[in-house]
Amino acid sequence: MSKLSDRIINLAESQTLAMAKKSRELQALGKDIISLSIGEPDFDTPQFIKDAAKLAIDNNITRYTPVAGIQELRKAISEKFKRDNNLNYTAEQIVVSTGAKQSIANIILSLVNPGEEVIVPIPYWVSYIETIKLAEGIAITIPTDVASDFKITPEQLQKAITPKTKMIVFSTPCNPSGSVYNKEELHALAEIIIQYPDLYVLSDEIYEYINFKGKHESIAQFNFIYERVITVNGVSKGFAMTGWRIGYIGAPLWISQACEKMQGQFTSGASSISQMAALEAIKANPIVTMTMRNAFKKRRDLVLNLLKEIPGLKTNVPDGAFYIFPDISYYFGKSYKNYLINNSNDLSMYLLEVGNIALVSGDAFGDDNCIRFSYATSEERLIESVKRVKTALALLGT
Ligand code: PMP
Ligand code: GLU
Repeated sequence: MSKLSDRIINLAESQTLAMAKKSRELQALGKDIISLSIGEPDFDTPQFIKDAAKLAIDNNITRYTPVAGIQELRKAISEKFKRDNNLNYTAEQIVVSTGAKQSIANIILSLVNPGEEVIVPIPYWVSYIETIKLAEGIAITIPTDVASDFKITPEQLQKAITPKTKMIVFSTPCNPSGSVYNKEELHALAEIIIQYPDLYVLSDEIYEYINFKGKHESIAQFNFIYERVITVNGVSKGFAMTGWRIGYIGAPLWISQACEKMQGQFTSGASSISQMAALEAIKANPIVTMTMRNAFKKRRDLVLNLLKEIPGLKTNVPDGAFYIFPDISYYFGKSYKNYLINNSNDLSMYLLEVGNIALVSGDAFGDDNCIRFSYATSEERLIESVKRVKTALALLGT
């Protein structure tokens, strides 16, 4: 009998974090690795947010907070939802957690029963599938590709729904494809979902402020589906606050109460100091996030242009987040020395070992034809990175 539970044995390691760890280890050994593996802004947290955290410490805001979050922060998030998304969530419908990752875990564990199905469009963010597995739910994936801008159609969604379907989980802007659903596309999906009374939507909007197309659209904005949607967001990406670990949800009251109960057993709530810092971020005019957004857009354009010089890569034009997810299947069947490329894992290992460049295989996101570049780093490093990829790929022959 194993000493570990089946639960943990069956759980896959987060591939984004695993690749980041591997590149750190190689760097520590003196290897000149550039890592475009982890998705986190390279910017520093804005000064006014850091000042709020220092003040919180000096003011002794260092004790347990209410499990669902400091009331002032929940109120500020409620106002943010109204201000930015035209969504009406009262403070009681908000739960603040230790990162959006925990928000997602709270929701899935609170709603999904063993054997229930959760629809997850491909490509998906790595942690959705593993959290569904923890809840003993069954992930039902829907394929997409570059040609469809990695977005699902209402027809595909309709086909995937069965009497066992409990939820659909997706991100817009999407990690890893950068695709952004517009209002019409969300409306069309909502019209399908509403036909099924026991179907809920987890809408992961953590990249809201990194949108190059225009206004961010939330699926909960359509009144007819509002009661079925859990909107997830957080400060990690938009405010360059990944290490502060603050995410939040807006949800129907019975769901936010369930998440609060779950969290009361798991963490007792998020760090008091981080919550006070997040309060300043959320109250601020979102204009403060625009400098970073503009830098990401410039980098996206730079990388897209550079990638055009590499034979065989097919990309969409990502409208948000900070990832590019090219189809690299052109290289399957090719080899160099003892490296034979048959899938995206082979290619990412090859690029790491031969090209000194860390990317994440598409397989981790459900699409084995692709590979993910995170372009949240300086332009110089991006230029050097694409050069490395180009050089390494050029060595591959049949
Ligand atoms: N959702 C998506 C799509 C993400 O890319 C991330 C990044 N880690 C998260 C959720 C979790 O974010 P957080 O840092 O707030 O836990
Ligand atoms: N969301 C980021 C990524 O996809 C951070 C890593 C993680 O939380 O898995 O790389």
